[in-house]
Amino acid sequence: METKPEKSLNFIHEIIEEDNKTGKFGNRVHTRFPPEPNGYLHIGHAKSICLNFGTAEKYNGLCNLRFDDTNPVKEDVEYVDSIKEDVHWLGFDWQGREFYASDYFETLYGYAELLIKKGKAYVCALSIDDIGKFRGTVTHAGQESPYRNRTVDENLDLFRRMRAGEFADGAMVLRAKIDMAHPNMLMRDPILYRILHAEHHRTGDKWCIYPMYDFAHGQCDSIEHITHSICTLEFEVHRVLYDWFVKELEIYAPQQIEFARLNLTYTVMSKRKLLELVQGGHVKGWDDPRMPTICGLRRRGFTPGSIRNFADIIGVAKRNNVIDVSLLEHCLREDLNKKALRKLAVLNPLKLVIENFPEDEVEEMDAVNNPEDPETGMRKVPFSKYLYIDEEDFMENPPSKFFRLSPGNEVRLKYAYIIKCTDVIKDDNGKITEIHCTYDPETRSGLPQSNRKVKGTIHWVSAKHAIEAEVRLYEQLFLKENPEEVEEGEDFKANMNPNSLQIKNCFCEASLKEVKSGEKFQFERQGYFCVDPDSTSERPVFNRTVTLKESKAKTQK
Ligand code: ATP
Ligand code: MG
Repeated sequence: METKPEKSLNFIHEIIEEDNKTGKFGNRVHTRFPPEPNGYLHIGHAKSICLNFGTAEKYNGLCNLRFDDTNPVKEDVEYVDSIKEDVHWLGFDWQGREFYASDYFETLYGYAELLIKKGKAYVCALSIDDIGKFRGTVTHAGQESPYRNRTVDENLDLFRRMRAGEFADGAMVLRAKIDMAHPNMLMRDPILYRILHAEHHRTGDKWCIYPMYDFAHGQCDSIEHITHSICTLEFEVHRVLYDWFVKELEIYAPQQIEFARLNLTYTVMSKRKLLELVQGGHVKGWDDPRMPTICGLRRRGFTPGSIRNFADIIGVAKRNNVIDVSLLEHCLREDLNKKALRKLAVLNPLKLVIENFPEDEVEEMDAVNNPEDPETGMRKVPFSKYLYIDEEDFMENPPSKFFRLSPGNEVRLKYAYIIKCTDVIKDDNGKITEIHCTYDPETRSGLPQSNRKVKGTIHWVSAKHAIEAEVRLYEQLFLKENPEEVEEGEDFKANMNPNSLQIKNCFCEASLKEVKSGEKFQFERQGYFCVDPDSTSERPVFNRTVTLKESKAKTQK
């Protein structure tokens, strides 16, 4: 059995162990993953999912799935469904604890009335623009709203009429009454409720006022008795506000802990930008295999294990940083190397004729299914006079270090014989159309006398047995390590890689005829491939998940 080296605790787990020592939460650990259902999840969310669900698992605690659905305009059930699918696919389960901020709208409304009654909230009729102007700057105190000193009764009456639908969108808002000179701008009488005559995907037209995210998020954690509210660093400045609500409302107080969000090279990670790529037709959809979305990664051929392992390796930090996307690919290769069955496929077919091989004879060669997993055994692959090899494995005038096929030179055909190139056939334009060879019958793989060594081994398929398939080869979606680095007047889309998708017709061994969407293989020497849902029995379609080795020619830095 493999033993994992004892890893030191991350800083969040240190906090939890300390809390368990002092009994702060009665040794309970209860986390939650709180997505807003306004887009598909991406690899950054996967980090948060692994952290929240993983932490609960580690400490025999619980983790809720909570949809922060406070913005009816941008949210949709399509997103809710995809989020649930993605969390499950990653291997986590919320055991029925599926909650929605909208479940708590009545409670949140009650909290708002309570603040009004305590003189801690007021209805303000300044326009959104003016609220902004009155807020002041980091160096200058803000200015109090002329509506700040309404009486409690007046505020209650107005707020109830806001709820009853008496006012138009934007006519007024409910604000907390905190401190217009507070050094933290978020404490300068933040907005708690706004009027929005909009249909909500769960509550329909029941509400025409909606709580702001800041007024909902912390209280939802409180209602669910979350112990450790793990969130990303940008919420650090919001913590005082959340603590203020909890204190004023005299409700249960979770501990918020912030960590650095995941950033990856050559990748944009914000849902807004990913939506822009989808809506602008720059990719084929949320699950385009070039997208950093979980569904995109899944379609590309990523495994849940590789993503969880990646999350584990990068760990959690307190400071923002950027992770090299090649680390994610490394985790994927490690996982697929153990699991993927090997197959022969030729991506750039070049005909090869073995002159001294009998015309109609077919030999069955023994091929290893997965050298990393002996239990997968061997399979037979047919060998005949007419083969395809990869164009890149032949050079007419090779440099000295080229050990593949060239005129007069020998290579081994994997699982088969040593061949020697005797002739090169070209068309009228001088393009090579066919290679002629002879084979040495004494060198059949696996036979005792086949020990003769040659420097190169190449792959092949038998022309009459091979099936045709479509392969989709991918590069990074962006040319720059930091896609946000743009010239004045441009946006991140200016950095898109025009060659991020290349489609090819290839020939592969016949055992790939009956493949199912999502199945993964290693095409020997070509990379790992995953069957795309577009695949049919007439025409299999494979996405190249990742090459076998990190490509040396990195795109421009
Ligand atoms: P985006 O900025 O990409 O639109 P978001 O933070 O608005 O993402 P939410 O649905 O609010 O998306 O996020 C749900 C959870 O996932 C939050 O707890 C958030 O902190 C976390 N999360 C989002 N992006 C990342 C990231 N890049 N790395 C780690 N955690 C993330
Ligand atoms: Mg958000």
